Amino acid sequence: MYNKINVTGMVIAAMPVGEYDRRITILTMERGKISAFARGARKPTGALLACSQQFAFGEFVLYEGRDSYNLEGADIKTYFGDIRNDMNGIYYGMYMCEFALYMSRENVQPGQILNLMYVSMRALEKARMPKKLVRRVFEMRYLTEDGEMPEVYSCLLCHREDLLEEERILFDAEKGGVVCDACNLKHTGLPISRSALYALQYIVSAPLERLFSFNVKETVLEELDRVVATWVSTRVGHKMKTEEMLDIF
Ligand SMILES: [Zn+2]
Repeated sequence: MYNKINVTGMVIAAMPVGEYDRRITILTMERGKISAFARGARKPTGALLACSQQFAFGEFVLYEGRDSYNLEGADIKTYFGDIRNDMNGIYYGMYMCEFALYMSRENVQPGQILNLMYVSMRALEKARMPKKLVRRVFEMRYLTEDGEMPEVYSCLLCHREDLLEEERILFDAEKGGVVCDACNLKHTGLPISRSALYALQYIVSAPLERLFSFNVKETVLEELDRVVATWVSTRVGHKMKTEEMLDIF
């Protein structure tokens, strides 16, 4: 017996199978990450040609088999087509998809992650924020939504909260967040400016619809780049294949 289901999601991976078919992975609101077979998806006239592409976002109709799903059709809301205006945008989109593919789980509802994917892809399309910053905001917020939020509001050791008045603060990924200068006599971790700390507080807490409506100076972007990179390497510890493709154009 096959059970028909409707899910909201985004195609985060698509692989050719045989001559005409595709196997896709959809990050869904209802069932987390699921894998589906799209029969005839690579035929030029196939009904599933467009909706089984990576980045397709919308409602998908699937038949649930014993241990896999078959894609029947879809009502696609967006393909994030403007990302394709520039090669670099495509690679950043692919990177975020690979990140979600690696981090998400099957049959576990992804909470806000699907909405985060949506607003992050939109930010790449609109291109008001540098792509490098979009990527770091996406990663930091992803990990926060996934239960790996760094402490950015008070010193991990003395718990004082007036850190935005401090001259010098350090981000220590191993310890799990920020440490004030008075506590960190050995100065382990990355020194960060007040602006970078403020940006981090914004990234972990802003409503998703406003997550990408800020910008920072180049120096602060460099700080955020380093801080989030160390956070990702200690919390994820895996290098995405598409990372090498970023900023080569
Ligand atoms: Zn302290």
